[in-house]
Amino acid sequence: MGIMIKKILNRIILNSPFFIHRHKTIHKSKLAIIGFHRVIDEADERFQEANLQWTITSQQFKDILITLKKYFTLVSPEEVLDAQRNVRNLPSSPLLITFDDGWVDNYLYAFPILKENNARALFFITTDYIGSYSYFMEEALFSYFSLASRGNSEFEKFIRDVECDLGKMKGYPHNHQINLAISKVRKLKPEKRKEVLQKYHEIIHRDISVRLFMNRDELKEMYDSGMSIGSHGKSHTPLTSVGASKEELISSKQVIENITGTNEFFLSYPHGAYNAKLSKECSGAGFHFACSSDTGLNSVPINNMFALKRFFLPSWRFNAHSGKLTNDQLKEIVLRDL
Ligand SMILES: [Zn+2]
Repeated sequence: MGIMIKKILNRIILNSPFFIHRHKTIHKSKLAIIGFHRVIDEADERFQEANLQWTITSQQFKDILITLKKYFTLVSPEEVLDAQRNVRNLPSSPLLITFDDGWVDNYLYAFPILKENNARALFFITTDYIGSYSYFMEEALFSYFSLASRGNSEFEKFIRDVECDLGKMKGYPHNHQINLAISKVRKLKPEKRKEVLQKYHEIIHRDISVRLFMNRDELKEMYDSGMSIGSHGKSHTPLTSVGASKEELISSKQVIENITGTNEFFLSYPHGAYNAKLSKECSGAGFHFACSSDTGLNSVPINNMFALKRFFLPSWRFNAHSGKLTNDQLKEIVLRDL
């Protein structure tokens, strides 16, 4: 089928009252949770190195938020808890907005847009990275590969050190090749991996003068303005693979309590990795619920509070370089993807 015909058909479907009615019926009494990572203004230097798979522009976030508000009622994590405890019912078509990782761009760009639109969100932060100028390992690798593919000779050496093929990574964007290379680095022997990462971390550290993660004051300000702060672990290591998962859970919880004074605790599993044992530990450590990266809607009442499903926007479809989203793309995100 021709692309043009597909586009026209798509538009007819997305605008049909039946489709909109169907969406409303499906979502009426189910909880939808949406997950974002980074929201960056294109003029910000952080944008150049950001992994576009997890990044949208400020303008795109604003458009998406306004569209979400047309079809959903935004709820807070406390409202989700109240419904679960039979204190009050959730409104029709409830939607909880979440952010993973704790990037400073969340504070700089997403937070003002949320306030402007009278919207609330739950920010899951990685407590070892509060105020940090360093990336998580995956994002550090992503920026090394990006710099190498743009002809930075220091990082071209890095590619050879980790036995990847720079030829395949030329051209930008090139997310797929970079993700393959990242998985290759993950498989290096721990000593070798540590050695090369250390060497290049020092080089990149000289290059990055901007902070990457939110600091305590920013988190406190967001909390005081009605946003919720949850835990995304302490070190961003999958909690299923660290020996001391209980320690990570309790210590990240204490940091959040220290900053905000809250006694309501929520978690998002780093890398989405969880199992029954970990869920049990979360509950035991005093968390009220945990979000996974599994896709889907949550029936209400929720049967497993420690395996909440979410939707992540397929940002590859509207690559952050493409600028403003069209009305059809926005409707597609909300009515088809969510
Ligand atoms: Zn994460």
